Amino acid sequence: MLPDPVNLTPFFFQLQAKDGHARAGVFHTPHGTLETPVFAPVGTQATVKALTPVQVRELGATLVLANTYHLYLRPGDDLVAELGGLHSFMQWERPILTDSGGFQVFSLAGINQIDEDGVTFKSHIDGSTHRFTPEKSIQIQENLGADIIMAFDQCPEPYDRTGVEAAVTRTHAWLERCAAAKTRPDQALFGIAQGGIHADLREQSAAFVTSLDLPGYAIGGLAVGETKDEMHAILEIMDVHLPENKPRYLMGVGAPQDLINGVRRGVDIFDCVLPTRMARNEAVFLRTGERFNLRNAAFARDPRPIDDQCACYTCQHFTRAYLRHLIIAKEMLSATLLSIHNLFTLVQLTKDMRAAIVEGRFEAFARGIPGNTEYGIRNT
Ligand SMILES: [Zn+2]
Repeated sequence: MLPDPVNLTPFFFQLQAKDGHARAGVFHTPHGTLETPVFAPVGTQATVKALTPVQVRELGATLVLANTYHLYLRPGDDLVAELGGLHSFMQWERPILTDSGGFQVFSLAGINQIDEDGVTFKSHIDGSTHRFTPEKSIQIQENLGADIIMAFDQCPEPYDRTGVEAAVTRTHAWLERCAAAKTRPDQALFGIAQGGIHADLREQSAAFVTSLDLPGYAIGGLAVGETKDEMHAILEIMDVHLPENKPRYLMGVGAPQDLINGVRRGVDIFDCVLPTRMARNEAVFLRTGERFNLRNAAFARDPRPIDDQCACYTCQHFTRAYLRHLIIAKEMLSATLLSIHNLFTLVQLTKDMRAAIVEGRFEAFARGIPGNTEYGIRNT
């Protein structure tokens, strides 16, 4: 499919303000400008589960993520391209990011074989055999047509140094092949730095991926079993070694405190299934990090909203008692209303952090959120 010539806007990141290590910026894409920091709801199957695109837009989201592995298997990337690409197919006219399929191939599918060329795997749906290579991942992502596409990488177990070294070498070779395979000028390819919890490997990986001068960089291989302190230490290393004039994307991280601690260390873009997955499991969180399950009998006659400080549609209209009733009665609306609240909480948190950075009061803002007791950032 040929790109729409009207949308050949170059990708461009402008850093607007820095406060400590926290950054406020704008990233221009063919489907609009993203104000950063930004949280992207995950639309695994080209839908943010339980929400219409209008609801996703109205809660303030600007960027959504879709999954290459899932859409390749079903309905097929060729079919999506035939119907005009993801923006049209899922009716989301703002920016979209697709992952490379690598994480799902390594975590979800049955692996048959990993070699230097790619990965052969079995579909988790019907057991059929497929093969992803860097070139295949780019071809699928070009068919899907997202604004931001990701390099095909290998996310290793973070503590196994030998395994991490092999994954870093492979991820770098695959990144070069992704960059060479890419043909669409209206898509931005982000490189992914790996390296587990090993500082020297992280530095090596950052040096390599940034040598390709890509429009943005992702920090992969975190939130996969390491401790928070280890994640923070790696983010501080990446903050030093990634260029200031490109957006930084921390993949798969989306609890309120993790967003604050990521922004505090120079991260611009986040995504995570957590808010919508929790909502489908009848649970909500507040920006303080407090979580509770609305099925609890304690909420049966509770006339309060989920969060009396929250301006989301759900909190503006519905009581905890009503939401619990929907859950007990197995009504679908509960997943919708809880998803709206959880996503709004993260999206609004990124907007409030952005305003605080621009006004030079980020640290005061972050420390003013009850439950945010993390002070471990270095003072350089
Ligand atoms: Zn709310």
